[in-house]
Amino acid sequence: MDRQIIRETAGRVLRSEDLAGSEKEQAAQFLRENPALGNPHMVRCSWCHEKTVLFRDEDMGGFTRTRHGWRCTKCDEHAASQEVKF
Ligand SMILES: [Zn+2]
Repeated sequence: MDRQIIRETAGRVLRSEDLAGSEKEQAAQFLRENPALGNPHMVRCSWCHEKTVLFRDEDMGGFTRTRHGWRCTKCDEHAASQEVKF
């Protein structure tokens, strides 16, 4: 279990894909064991529709962290973000 698996699982939760109960439980357990990580967020730019799942200390995939969320680097616009809870 690592961040990348959590990101993928979060993406599937948001797309309402069917997950085995154990997948959600494993993701929830990983996050409980790593409280500093916080929950992942689905970050989305409403201008170019770029989106990705990020933890609060990450900026990747064309997004830059700000004090209150993320900015789309390409559009230089504030990105919408939605916290994902397992
Ligand atoms: Zn954008």
